[in-house]
Amino acid sequence: MCASKPPLSSTYEIEKIITGLSDISFDDHTILVTGGSGFLGSWICEVLLHKGAEVICLDNYASGRPDNTDHLKHHPKFIRIVHDISKPYDPGRKVDLVCHLASRASPLEFEHYPIQILKSNTLGTMNALGIARKYEARFLFTSTSEIYGEASVFPTPETYRGNVNTLGIRGCYDEAKRAGEAFCMAYHRQHGLDVRIARIFNTYGPRMRSDGHYGRVIPRFIDQAVHDVPITIFGDGKQTRSFCYVTDQITGLLRLAGLPGLTGEVINIGNPVEWTIHDLAQMIIELTGSKSELSYQPMPPDDPTRRVPDITKAMDKLRWKPELDLREGLRRVIDEEKKSL
Ligand code: UDP
Repeated sequence: MCASKPPLSSTYEIEKIITGLSDISFDDHTILVTGGSGFLGSWICEVLLHKGAEVICLDNYASGRPDNTDHLKHHPKFIRIVHDISKPYDPGRKVDLVCHLASRASPLEFEHYPIQILKSNTLGTMNALGIARKYEARFLFTSTSEIYGEASVFPTPETYRGNVNTLGIRGCYDEAKRAGEAFCMAYHRQHGLDVRIARIFNTYGPRMRSDGHYGRVIPRFIDQAVHDVPITIFGDGKQTRSFCYVTDQITGLLRLAGLPGLTGEVINIGNPVEWTIHDLAQMIIELTGSKSELSYQPMPPDDPTRRVPDITKAMDKLRWKPELDLREGLRRVIDEEKKSL
């Protein structure tokens, strides 16, 4: 299995995101990105540099990878610092925006690193909010669809309050992100901080890890398919997810961070087209021409049965909706994966 793929700085992806941000300026802003060498963080750093910002990228490389941002290392406006944001940090200079992404996010990691996950999203969020407060910066928190837990309303709107098993294996992530949201609203109410909360639904694309404890379903299935080894479906594969290509996700996130008039808002960002995991596996087998068979494995506890966002609010407030469908996005990831074989 592929342990680590070379990152790519894809013109297509960057151009797509930049086009979606043409009405927003980050020119000459100084922006702190925690988790800046992770999957989403590294795309955010790169796009912000293209938009003329100075970017301070903070990462402790727990799940982020230096090679996601190695190609930016010599950019005159890029500063990369190794730091765990669950410990205090002061950039020592004015920042205009703090994007707090630092956290492990794969369910496979929840079992092995629950304390770190709790810390990144509680202490880490508090520390990142403290920086925003000190320098009067705007704050973007990347929350998650996981805060809805085993939801009962579909598509799920922001007003749904969630159904989370506090004590379960996913509790460390779900409850920490819920606490992170509460921290944001507390700083907003008590200190007037301009906070924005994104609830990110399943996202995939280049730079997402497929290896070890980090792999999410799409990179895992693609990795298995291109190596013709069995595709590991958890449970009966009837559970659903809605998959957003990274260009659409980053465009949505940076629209939320950059547009005026969104202080204190929480917005779902994801693709509203729902797929079963079984159908996802079949599509990946077809697109890769794989000989892999389906191998049914026990369902992990508390794995949500359905997940699909209501993006009405995002369409209205961000003037945004996803553009790439799953087949097209998968084709792009598979092409990249094949190049690195
Ligand atoms: N999944 C699977 N096989 C795998 C990995 C994941 O069937 O090898 C399923 C998992 O049980 C879940 C869905 O795919 O229902 C999405 O899993 P992922 O780890 O990407 O994140 P989640 O959406 O659960 O947070």
